[in-house]
Amino acid sequence: KADFAMYLAKENGKNNYQFYNDELNKKMKRKMILETYLHKAIEKNELTVHYQPQFNLTSFKIVGAEALLRWECPMGKIPPDEFIPIAEETGLIMPIGEWVLRQACRDIKRFKANGLESFPISVNISTRQLMAPNFIERVQTIIAEEGVEPKLLTLEITESAFLYYEDAKDNILALRNLGVGVSLDDFGIGYSSLSMIRKIEIDELKIDRSFLNDSIKNNRVRSLLEAIIQIGKKIDTKVIVEGIETKEQIDILTVHGVFGQGYFYSRPLPVDEFEVWYTSRETHF
Ligand code: C2E
Ligand code: MG
Ligand code: MG
Ligand code: MG
Repeated sequence: KADFAMYLAKENGKNNYQFYNDELNKKMKRKMILETYLHKAIEKNELTVHYQPQFNLTSFKIVGAEALLRWECPMGKIPPDEFIPIAEETGLIMPIGEWVLRQACRDIKRFKANGLESFPISVNISTRQLMAPNFIERVQTIIAEEGVEPKLLTLEITESAFLYYEDAKDNILALRNLGVGVSLDDFGIGYSSLSMIRKIEIDELKIDRSFLNDSIKNNRVRSLLEAIIQIGKKIDTKVIVEGIETKEQIDILTVHGVFGQGYFYSRPLPVDEFEVWYTSRETHF
């Protein structure tokens, strides 16, 4: 730890070892505290699931919603990009991941009871969950216990699953055989995007939002984005573009008959707010 701090200090061409050491200590201390809190997050009811709608960009029909985990602990609201890695490292992702899955299943039933049209809910799962020997069994059990149609559930995985290709392949196949959809999240930014879709058939590609972001100013990236959309179409895979924030971005996308989600339409919302939004939403943008 001290070595690393020294390294950082040198890297930055400054001789303020103490500063980096303090920064590092602060970060490690925060992480340790969060870890302690995370152990009790479920029992203390600190977790909630928010939902962000996904659209057919030409018909404005809602084609799905992504479940995104939120955590408010005694230190405040902690973003998933900070606590999910801690959950993964400590193994807490296993109970937490199951909790999210179950909650999403309950909300699928809730939406149905409250008269929302049925659309699939996408749940993010960590590679560590996907690789667990009993994962398929657990998914099957939860779906059965909650009484949810498998086709109303999509699981989002990332390319890091590809590091464990052989096991990942079997579990992805098994999920699809259960009738659960499989989506490849953050597509295009990893090292093996094409390899993955070459070897495994999946139901959906989610193009990482950096492509859309850069498309506005960079024609080359825009062509690349269009080409990825075409790849998805050619292999009969649903394509969703993430991170739509502006009308300008939508104009790039609509001609391609692609799906999308982003702050432009709605931020991820707590389940009750999502329902209010759903019933009062604009059906044209
Ligand atoms: P992700 O799965 O790629 O989710 C998309 C992220 O982009 C979400 O961040 C969402 O709030 C954000 N987003 C949506 N629309 C826009 C937009 O228009 N602009 C911008 N800038 N961002 C937008 P969030 O909720 O902070 O989640 C971050 C990541 O944490 C997720 O990325 C996912 O990898 C992970 N995560 C979230 N919930 C779970 C979970 O239940 N389990 C696991 N394993 N990971 C989760
Ligand atoms: Mg996702
Ligand atoms: Mg993503
Ligand atoms: Mg992600």
